[in-house]
Formats: sequence, C-alpha cells, structure tokens
Amino acid sequence: MDLTKGQSPRRFRAQSEEACLDAPLRAVLDHATRHFRAKRGAALEAFADCEAHFARARSARLRSLSRLPELLEELEHNAAAAGTQVHWAADAAEARALVAGIAQGCGARVVVKGKSMVTEEIELNPALEAAGIEVWETDLGEFIVQLAGEPPSHIIAPAIHKSRAEVARLFREKLGLVCQDGGESIPELTLLARRALREKFLQAEMGVTGVNIAVAATGSLVLVENEGNIRMSTTCPPVHVAVMSLEKVAASLEDAADLLRVLPQSATGQRMSSYVSVLTGPRRRDEADGPREAHLVLLDNGRSRVLADPVLREILLCFRCGACLNVCPVYQTGAAMPTAPCTPGPWARCCPPCCCRRRTPATCPSAAPCAGPASAPAPWA
Ligand code: SF4
Repeated sequence: MDLTKGQSPRRFRAQSEEACLDAPLRAVLDHATRHFRAKRGAALEAFADCEAHFARARSARLRSLSRLPELLEELEHNAAAAGTQVHWAADAAEARALVAGIAQGCGARVVVKGKSMVTEEIELNPALEAAGIEVWETDLGEFIVQLAGEPPSHIIAPAIHKSRAEVARLFREKLGLVCQDGGESIPELTLLARRALREKFLQAEMGVTGVNIAVAATGSLVLVENEGNIRMSTTCPPVHVAVMSLEKVAASLEDAADLLRVLPQSATGQRMSSYVSVLTGPRRRDEADGPREAHLVLLDNGRSRVLADPVLREILLCFRCGACLNVCPVYQTGAAMPTAPCTPGPWARCCPPCCCRRRTPATCPSAAPCAGPASAPAPWA
C-alpha cells in the first residue's frame, strides 16, 4: 500500500479503504498488536504496586501541567546554565526554520535523527532536505519507512506494517544491500541497517532527537530507546539539537523517575528501556565525548491553546506510549494507517484540528485510534 505523506481527505479515505481490504496487512497488524498487548499485560502483572506507580506518574504529569509556564522558564534557565542553547518555536514553521538555521550554521551536510514524533509533527525532514541536507533516520523502523517514503505507522513500531520480505526488497532496491545468506532473516537485515547507519553516524555534523522528559530542576533531557541509535545521534556528531513539545517537562528528577518507571512497561512491556540517557548540556572541557554544541527547541504549536482549555488540557497528559493503538479496533483494520503517527490516541482526536492544524477534521479523527474502545489501557485511565 502506498502511504506517501501529505494526503488529502479524499486520498486518506481511499487509502483507508484500500488498507481495510488488505488481508496481509490486517494479519501483520493483528499479530504485532497481539504481541504488544501480551507483553504489556505480562509486564503489568509482574509490576508490584502497578496502580500506585501509574498514579504517581499521573500526579507528576498533572503537576507539570499545573505549573507549565513556570517550569518551562526554570528549564530554560537551568539548561542554559548547563550550556544548552534554548530556542522557542511558536509553531512548526518556526521550529523547522530554527533547526535548519542551526544545521546551516554548523555547515551540516549530513544529519542523523533519533525517532521523534515531534519532528514528524513539524515535518522537519523535508525542510532539511530542501536546504540541501541529507537526513538519515537511525531507528531501525524509522529507517525502513524513510526508505519506503512513508510516514511511521505506530509510535513505537514505525514499520509495524512492513513484512520481512518488503524490508529485504527495500534494502536491495534503495541501498543495493542484500543479506549474506541471500535470505531475509531479521538479524541479517538488522546487520545491514547497522552497517549502513554506522557510516552515517560518523559522517554526520548534526544529530536531531526528540525528548521524552525534560527536567526543569536540572535542565537535563531524558531520552529512552532500545537500539542505542539515540545515544549515537547525541554523542557522535559535534552538534545535537533536541526538539521538545512543551508538555514534556517534569519538575524534578524524582518526577522523571516516576514517569520512567511506567513508560516502558506501558509501551513495550519492558521493566526498563535498554538505554536511558540523561543529557545535561554539551560536552564539558574534561569530557572525552559528546557534542560541542547542544540546542533545545521548545515547540508550542498550539499546545498553549490546548492547555488553556479546561477539558482539552488532559490531552497533554499523553506520554506517547502507543498502548492505545494496540487495542484499537480501527487501527487493527488498517484504516488508520495513513494517519500520521504524531497523532495517535487523544492526539488523533483533538490535536490535528485544535493543535497542529495540519489536517482537516475529515481525515484523522474519522479513523481515530481513540474513536473506538481504545481507552482501556491508557496509563492515565
Ligand atoms: S493516549 Fe494513553 S495509551 Fe495512548 S499513547 Fe497516550 S498515554 Fe499511551
């Protein structure tokens, strides 16, 4: 199925209809979401005091939202004190211009990126490419969908809709790479991607990531991942740019720890993500590695409007674990496939019209993951 970006409402409907009739796609989605549900269920069962931990995490998010402007100023102050250059972007266009400007300022020709829904939201890649910059997604799933010219289809599993055979074909056609054994085993395909990307990490003059949590009290950025590519993107290139949506701020390291305790359990059914990076400013004089320049772009893009609404502000509690997708009957039919992944969960229902304003209400919300009985697994439910 062609999931090329930027579809009109009519094209969205046509793609949704096509996806619903795609039996192999439905089978892949059914298998993958079943797997995620089982892992999450097992993780929560083994998680002592699970409900108390989720309640603590919810309280941490509520505290952040209740003091958001103040915490953002504190974050700006402490991040700047640690040497991070902080920028504010009112909307996607400003954020794109800021990141492109930083790239041009450091003479970047190659940029490596960690998986980041907020950079999908602002459509950063086309802007950098228009400025003549080569952009490489380094998360394996993101790398696959980038090669396919498609948007990611799940927050935590961007290439969930791709079979091994399709990935092997993409690697062969787009990169001229084939598995040594001529097959399409996942370890062999992963090895091919790793080799291709290692080269890019070494070439890149700039790394771009999102932010899972920013800690106001210390000016630190917390990033979680399972592949090590974010750590490479934030330490190999001389310049790191983190793009963060405003609501990701937490008051303290204790609040961040409360969130970290539940995020991987809800997202991937892990007790903890394989890599947790806490970045506080650029490389110090006595440090051997890390970027010489660190930038933080704080993106509003309509979130202030959402925060000001007493009903809608709860949208901002979402921490993008993706669990709602895995129980969503609409998602499992494939109907939501053409929906940009920056908009699952409550975002799908509300953000495009009231926050990002990048799609008409006739597209995303009409096949919104939360349109069905998808609220059950939400950590905050
Ligand atoms: S709505 Fe809830 S379940 Fe869905 S991504 Fe957000 S926090 Fe996770």
